[in-house]
Amino acid sequence: MCRTVRDDTEMLRAGRDAQGTWYLGRGVGRGVWWCAVGGCEEEVRVAHVARALRSAAHQSDVVALKGLSTSKRP
Ligand SMILES: [Zn+2]
Repeated sequence: MCRTVRDDTEMLRAGRDAQGTWYLGRGVGRGVWWCAVGGCEEEVRVAHVARALRSAAHQSDVVALKGLSTSKRP
C-alpha cells in the first residue's frame, strides 16, 4: 500500500464480492492492490481500502485483507 511501482507479478490483489466476502486474485469491479513483498499489507488502512474500492470500508475489511495475504504464504 505504498507508492512503489512494481510489476503485477509482485503485487497482490484482493476484491470484495457482492456478499462482502474478500477473495485474493483478479475479479470484477474494483480491487485493492499491495506489494507481495516488503510487509506492505501491514500498512493497509481503512482509508486506503475505501479509496481503492470507492466504497465504505471498515476495520473488518482490513483484517480480512491481511488474513488473505498471510494465508497465501507457505
Ligand atoms: Zn507497497
